[in-house]
Amino acid sequence: MPNETELRKQLLKTGYSLLDKGLVAGTWGNISVRIPDTTHILITPSGRNYLELSSDDLARVDANGKLISGNYKPSSELPLHLAVYQTRPDINAIVHTHSIFASAMAVARKSIPPIIEDLVQLTGGSIDVSNYALPGTAELAKNTVSALGQKNAVLMANHGVVGCGQSLAEAMTACELVEKAAQIYIYANQLGGAHVLSDKDVAVMHEFYVNYYREQSK
Ligand code: 13P
Ligand code: ZN
Repeated sequence: MPNETELRKQLLKTGYSLLDKGLVAGTWGNISVRIPDTTHILITPSGRNYLELSSDDLARVDANGKLISGNYKPSSELPLHLAVYQTRPDINAIVHTHSIFASAMAVARKSIPPIIEDLVQLTGGSIDVSNYALPGTAELAKNTVSALGQKNAVLMANHGVVGCGQSLAEAMTACELVEKAAQIYIYANQLGGAHVLSDKDVAVMHEFYVNYYREQSK
């Protein structure tokens, strides 16, 4: 497991990638990671330019959301990040994006069915839409945790994507795969409709990822 200094570097790099890959515009979206051997997390500050963030600008907060260190206010979605960590001990990192095709699905309030290998491997099935709530609210946190269930990604109605993982890299990949699958699903529908994978095949592919494929990339 990387130490805190390394995690801070990884978190800043993940912020650059969000912009590079077009998963957010401006200062929206947010990123967090658990600090190993503590109950604290590091999270991006609210409304700050990713390209201008320094390591000390990242907020370190405790499990109750109390600011321990950092130059700015933590992300407005801190309640959501904390709620996911509280209910999912297997998750160490969270990335929240506003990517275009996934947001189109979130606006239509339609789940992305299990249609494509990489996404079902990592997330284990359909990507569901949480009930609508205002950004930054405890209600959004509750709705998101509930729609996420035991998967690694979820859509937030009229808002965007939350991707989770054992590492920042995996949480980021979850967001990228959700965006890619949303795009494929929308295109496939224009071509006459998407064929959905069977529950059995989804289970086989997810198990392969969890027990074998994920280990390769560590
Ligand atoms: P923050 O800048 O406060 O992290 O919020 C951005 C966002 O995407 C809210 O949902
Ligand atoms: Zn957002």
